[in-house]
Amino acid sequence: MARATKNGCNNHGTMRTGQSSVEIQQSILNHLHYTQAKPLPFATRNDWYMATAHSVRDQMLHNWLTTFDIFMSSPREKHKIVSYLSSEFLMGPHLGNNLVNLGLSESVRKALSALGQDLEAILAQEVEPGLGNGGLGRLAACYLESMATLRVPAVGFGIRYEFGIFDQEIHNGWQVEKGDNWLKNGNPWEVRRPDIAYEVKFGGHTEFAHDPEGRLAVRWIPEKVIKGVAYDTPVAGYRSGGVAVLRLWKSEAVASFDFQAFNAGEYYKAVDDKVLSETISKVLYPNDEPGIGKFLRLCQQYFFVSCSLQDMIWFHLSLGRGIESFSESFAIQINDTHPSMGIAELMRLLVDEHHLEWDEAWRITRESFAYTNHTLLSEALEKWPLPLMASVLPRIVEIIFEINRRFLDEVRGLFPEDDQRIARLSLIDETGEKYVRMANLACVGSHAINGVAALHTDLLKKTVLHDFYELFPEKFHNITNGVTPRRWLALSNPELAKLISSKLGEGWLSSIETALAWLQGAAKNTTFQQKWLKVKQANKIALAKVIRERIGIEVDPASLFDVQVKRIHEYKRQHLNVLHIITLYNRIKRDPTADITPRTFIFAGKAAPGYHMAKLIIKLITSVADVVNTDPDVAGRLKVVFFPDFNVTNSQLIVPAADLSEQISVAGKEASGTGNMKLALNGALTIGALDGANIEIREEVGKENFFLFGLEAAEAQSLKSGGYNPRCWYEGNEQLRQAIDQIDAGTFSNGDRQLFRPLVDNLLNRDEYLVLADYQSYIDCQDLVSAAYCDKKKWAEMSILNVAGMGKFSSDRAIREYGEKIWKTTAIIDPTKYVYAGSKGRDSKKGEDTGIHPTPRIRRSKTTESPLVS
Ligand SMILES: *Cc1c(COP(=O)(O)O)cnc(C)c1O
Repeated sequence: MARATKNGCNNHGTMRTGQSSVEIQQSILNHLHYTQAKPLPFATRNDWYMATAHSVRDQMLHNWLTTFDIFMSSPREKHKIVSYLSSEFLMGPHLGNNLVNLGLSESVRKALSALGQDLEAILAQEVEPGLGNGGLGRLAACYLESMATLRVPAVGFGIRYEFGIFDQEIHNGWQVEKGDNWLKNGNPWEVRRPDIAYEVKFGGHTEFAHDPEGRLAVRWIPEKVIKGVAYDTPVAGYRSGGVAVLRLWKSEAVASFDFQAFNAGEYYKAVDDKVLSETISKVLYPNDEPGIGKFLRLCQQYFFVSCSLQDMIWFHLSLGRGIESFSESFAIQINDTHPSMGIAELMRLLVDEHHLEWDEAWRITRESFAYTNHTLLSEALEKWPLPLMASVLPRIVEIIFEINRRFLDEVRGLFPEDDQRIARLSLIDETGEKYVRMANLACVGSHAINGVAALHTDLLKKTVLHDFYELFPEKFHNITNGVTPRRWLALSNPELAKLISSKLGEGWLSSIETALAWLQGAAKNTTFQQKWLKVKQANKIALAKVIRERIGIEVDPASLFDVQVKRIHEYKRQHLNVLHIITLYNRIKRDPTADITPRTFIFAGKAAPGYHMAKLIIKLITSVADVVNTDPDVAGRLKVVFFPDFNVTNSQLIVPAADLSEQISVAGKEASGTGNMKLALNGALTIGALDGANIEIREEVGKENFFLFGLEAAEAQSLKSGGYNPRCWYEGNEQLRQAIDQIDAGTFSNGDRQLFRPLVDNLLNRDEYLVLADYQSYIDCQDLVSAAYCDKKKWAEMSILNVAGMGKFSSDRAIREYGEKIWKTTAIIDPTKYVYAGSKGRDSKKGEDTGIHPTPRIRRSKTTESPLVS
């Protein structure tokens, strides 16, 4: 099924409205009238939000079509598009970010206020699209925004889940999951494209025959065909005019009405069929969910890569190019192995449907695909039961077998007689029940493989992907993750951004890689420090207010805000943090007059619904909170808060208020982390082990400005291989023993000795993540944190130096590296050709410059004083 028309893309018209507040006010009224169809007196807050969003979207659609025109009229060698394939995109709320990136915040605020509306209330109306579990989906969102900012032609392909990640409520201290009905009030950001739709086959069997030229031709006779329809959401770049597209596929029945079934009186069977078709994009699976939903998840993955690849081929051919040059049009990045079936699917499309020879198709496929690995946890490496895959995707399995046969023949040539190596490299795991190993498929079918932090890439080469590294060393790259400073600083922490602008001038948000380092010169400046602390204090007061309103706990904004916000997982070691809280509590109980630096411990994060230990850790946190928060001996010096429903919206609220960032995963387990980057970028100091990107953060901010504890990855490895016995560590440490005994004895569970038994048993008998081994080092390090926090001036200096060192962790830097090392794309749309809508008709205010900012030539220097600092 192809699109109805071949796009005539020129002359798309002019801007519908200008960007002055008067023009925007008119646009909002028009949308209230013509889009929402509401008389003014009956307009709800949601109507105002929708009308505002549509007004902003108009501006973006214009930029988008302009981007497209420039793309089409630029030289052919620039016609390369980055396709970012990801089963998750955790975009966060759109409105605020689009206002920042388009430079429209002030004019929209003014327009709304003239209409009697408050921008903050309108912003709060947006339900965020929670189409991701955590870091991986959020990374995809940051990368789309950076590609738009850098004007790299880019499409993010994914699934339009009707229900995203569940909403989390806390009932009686336990996590309760609620369905996330994010579309119920309408989604003003997406454009449905009924003309962009593709058919996807499932089940059935294949038939082998020869075509008239005598070539083998395979037909896949499916049991079922499902249609994917595109929904496009524009993603605005920061003040560059560039727009990327997020194209999400919704599954639908091919024909919504099966006449034959209807005539036979089986109307409900026809409806059933429709329901089944629509199930594929119904719900996002929480990760770590064992077993159940396997079948649907497999269907989801194939569904979205098939639609995306058919769409890419359609576009490539519509440019008038031959199929054999496909890899000149697209650089396909797969975000973890979830889209790795795309490798086999592209082979199928090229060989079965476009009739290329296998070798030619294989060259194109390898040139097109690149694979980002995201995990070192071997249990998290995706593999599909072969019988399941063979029944759902018979043709794909045949192609995987053929890829494997040819690949293993090559390996045998290189390593004759090395059967063990061949068994490890095989795309099929045959050690017991048979599985298809998706990481192996991704490695074989890609020209580039990257890890997401230096340590992670190093460990990939040494462990998880060692055999592939020996085979293809030239394929391996490291590209350390990054986050966008627009959402994670300008939007979430506007006052800090303003203060930084007072030192760096405007324009630094598109060049933090070089610009932030200039803050080093201001780190010792007392006046600047005071302003810095004042901003942090205001952010803490704002968070304290939300905590009071939502959770009913009173916290002291003068206390140290100690923050651990991320998915709940044993390897991330939230329970190590809890052991520290109990240790401090015991110090107070031993001596209520003890000198304790007041702290507010803030936790947030979802546990996968089927991950019982993670859910028990949440219950432990809330149980310890109940005891500590109300104990008169504590006298309010310690407070423990579990902030429910961690998502992007809540993250933007918590991150700017953090003093201390807990990045305490056991060394060698966290691939990179991006929460660590967001928190440091907002002036939190990190307490962390040498894991993931923590190592590089510490190098950048200086080791004297980072609280390091714990074993290194190699030490952790050798401790475990040497027969680690957690019970020895427990018995040898009195404070640790006391804390664990209290959990076991029911001190935090009203005497219930059963409740936390699985957790205690696990720690004493297995402790896979070395909580007990790292305990003392962590406590000692926390004591240093407490002491450091008492010296406000020194703390402010360290906080400023942390932000000054964060330039490297911009997603702009990461995208530039992907472009240079992997995509080999020079396809950055020439800014001089750009007719940027924002360059006309703006009502400029201080800090709201909408022009294009060239990257300033600033050299990063640790020694020279910044001339910009007074
Ligand atoms: C950044 C982010 C994450 C990732 O946090 P890590 O600390 O890197 O695990 C997860 N969820 C949300 C909502 C985020 O914003």
